[in-house]
Amino acid sequence: MALNKIAVELTTAPKSKPDNGQLSFGKYFTDHMFILDYDAGKGWHDPRIVPYQPIPLDPAAKVFHYGQTVFEGMKAYKTPEGPVLLFRPYKNLQRLNRSNARLSIPHIDEGLVIEALKQLIQIDKDWIPDEQGTSLYIRPFVIATQATLGVQPSEQYMFMIILSPVGSYYAEGINPVNIYVESEYVRAVTGGVGNAKTGGNYAAGLKAQQEATEKGYSQVLWLDGIHRKYIEEVGSMNVFFKVGDKVITPALNGSILEGVTRDSVIRLLKHWKVDVEERTISIDELVDAYRNGQLQEAFGTGTAAVISPIGELNWQGDKLTLNGGKTGELSARVYDFMTGLQRGLIEDPFGWIEKL
Ligand SMILES: *Cc1c(COP(=O)(O)O)cnc(C)c1O
Repeated sequence: MALNKIAVELTTAPKSKPDNGQLSFGKYFTDHMFILDYDAGKGWHDPRIVPYQPIPLDPAAKVFHYGQTVFEGMKAYKTPEGPVLLFRPYKNLQRLNRSNARLSIPHIDEGLVIEALKQLIQIDKDWIPDEQGTSLYIRPFVIATQATLGVQPSEQYMFMIILSPVGSYYAEGINPVNIYVESEYVRAVTGGVGNAKTGGNYAAGLKAQQEATEKGYSQVLWLDGIHRKYIEEVGSMNVFFKVGDKVITPALNGSILEGVTRDSVIRLLKHWKVDVEERTISIDELVDAYRNGQLQEAFGTGTAAVISPIGELNWQGDKLTLNGGKTGELSARVYDFMTGLQRGLIEDPFGWIEKL
């Protein structure tokens, strides 16, 4: 079997597509998927696009027991003139391989994945919604499939890409969220897997998320696992604070996920000559800045929402209201630029947009 030639089997039973109004996040999947297998001694092999379908797995498959898995998340956008646009896809694939390395999963050829992604999207391009705010969410992922319970890296894996048309994150325009500063649970520690995009980080975060939801908050702000005072991330987004005329975001310390949106926002702010600092920032420094009237805006960054402004932070019962609970000027400016760029409505000064 050829290692790099992608075999294609088209569906004979295309599904009906949802209306734009029915789309939410990750509820519908397109007609096709990409699969690549790995066997020790043979390497990655048999790249193929097949009809979207369930996959048979042995109950002893290692992924079920020991969580040896990684994933990625990116989006494709349909432009009014036709071409489909991807945003910095190579960044995601480099991160996929960094996550792989951390989880003892073999490296995957990035060129092959890009080729597979382009072919898959081309085949399912009629699934890409085109209404303002909608997009095609792309979920590449790897699972350990070897059917043995020994605690060693798997000798067999499957890499897959599935596609999901997703609705606008903000049904009625960009809206601030209320955030609970988490002081009991932690998401990750330096030396662990916090900087890998792997399922276990999400499973570990569910409890805090659930308790925050019960208290009326939409996400938690994670503090570091050792000192329990340095800010890490917000939910599954990176986080930025506008303090005075500076923007501060936590430095990549090994437990924070290196977001593609984070990197893009830092570069955009520098392009705009805004002072950006990547450093440790404690919750105490943030509260002080708030009391002094210096904490003007805060927002999360990630592929799903792009920018998510923070309207309120609850720190041990104290409610810190940011910018009157409204979207700040800088948050809105960053959101408009990033989404305009991703949809091809704004000239790309960075070379980030990849046309299909
Ligand atoms: C995916 C992810 C992010 C955001 O990364 P993007 O590349 O910007 O989408 C941030 N934090 C965590 C924990 C994540 O899993």
